[in-house]
Amino acid sequence: MTRPPSVERVLAAARPFVADRDADAVLAVAREVVEVERTRLGGGQEPRRVATLGADVVARLEAFDGPDSATSGTDTAGPPSVINATGVIVHTNLGRAAWPRAAIESARLAAEGSILLELDRATGRRGARFRAAEEHLISLTGAEDALVVTNNAAAIALAVGLAGRGGGVAVSRGELVEIGGGVRIPEILRRAGVRLVEVGTTNRTRVADFEAALADPKARIRVVLRVHPSNFVQSGFVETPDAAAVAEAAHGHGAIVVDDLGSGALLPTERVGLGHEPMPRERLAAGADLVTFSGDKLVGGPQAGLIVGRADLIVKLRRDPLARAMRPDKTILAAVAATLALYRAGRAMAEIPVWRLLATPLADLRRRAEAIAAALPDGAAQVVELEATVGGGSVPGQTLPSFGVALGAANGRAATTLLAALRAGEPCVIGRIERDHVVLDLRTAAPADDATLAGAATRALALVIAP
Ligand SMILES: *Cc1c(COP(=O)(O)O)cnc(C)c1O
Repeated sequence: MTRPPSVERVLAAARPFVADRDADAVLAVAREVVEVERTRLGGGQEPRRVATLGADVVARLEAFDGPDSATSGTDTAGPPSVINATGVIVHTNLGRAAWPRAAIESARLAAEGSILLELDRATGRRGARFRAAEEHLISLTGAEDALVVTNNAAAIALAVGLAGRGGGVAVSRGELVEIGGGVRIPEILRRAGVRLVEVGTTNRTRVADFEAALADPKARIRVVLRVHPSNFVQSGFVETPDAAAVAEAAHGHGAIVVDDLGSGALLPTERVGLGHEPMPRERLAAGADLVTFSGDKLVGGPQAGLIVGRADLIVKLRRDPLARAMRPDKTILAAVAATLALYRAGRAMAEIPVWRLLATPLADLRRRAEAIAAALPDGAAQVVELEATVGGGSVPGQTLPSFGVALGAANGRAATTLLAALRAGEPCVIGRIERDHVVLDLRTAAPADDATLAGAATRALALVIAP
């Protein structure tokens, strides 16, 4: 078997192009390239020239340079960016919300240097942690106080901890949900060290059920947890108790109410033609002591867990050692604050991508679909009416009218192959299959990406349809 050239020879070939790099990092990549060559030769492939291997070393190093490098081709420093043509606006597998410009800029400034994170400007001593995000939340929800943690699952785990070790947390059987990714409310409670007390039945839970559980001294219920059912709807013979009545029952027995809203809309979803998604302000007004929601669903900013509610409880949460383990870093705090500031500025609908996508007029989507179809080869695409969804567990069961293009021939197998070709292309495009056709839904794609989308579709079609 032919042996690969020595690492030294490959290094020598690369050396003129890597003078500004750390020698150990270059050596590590050169070893990788030689190993790959050894495997190739072992598989009976033709040996590559030393110069080619040297160029491979340089290319691999440049790929690690990140998106700012003028020389880098494919960027392996971060996850590849994709065009979301799935019709699911807040798509968990695609990183959920795209941040507003202001949030990106604030995070960049925070990342770039030192900031006044926990230093009192007047005294020069350690002060309260940067509180702009909390102040915005207080103003936007009418809460007494607020706390930002890493994500909403963390927020729930922290909040139910108020029940104390082994303390009872009452949850309606209709709300013992799996959020997604295998995360289940009973598991979160168990890991938080509290005791789940199931109340009512799967389809019907009444205030009287909560009353009975709360009155049972053995149950020792300290927290009533309400959970937004997220990705599913119940219909038919169902009953859920009124939020205010549950709060009254809980308070009558010295328990508190934690209301997990999941998405937690800060603007009324009716404005974009959807049914009502519960708002944190409403649940606080209905007697919830704490409300938790995500930063990267309908709020439309970075991943975070937002907790609003009673000042005395928020103080306890802030002092919990677990809160330290759930603390967001300076860039996230800056980006959350900038996102929330857009709501206060009255610019959320215009500036926050999630809301902009929700609010895009149907006529615009139709026009864009027609333009993309016209840019594709004759007969390759049809303009189709579609139904997009919000995702992220908000307004479950509801859809938004949309337009897009359907590609290629109606054939299940061809459609799967075409979908894969779109994913494998550059840029990566994620569509969906509907009635045996690949469809690209424009509700979730930015208008600036339309030309790129048309190009990607043309290339994928050529690959799949060509023999
Ligand atoms: C999404 C969701 C969560 C989890 O929020 P993360 O921010 O992903 O941790 C919890 N509860 C509900 C109801 C949700 O929809």
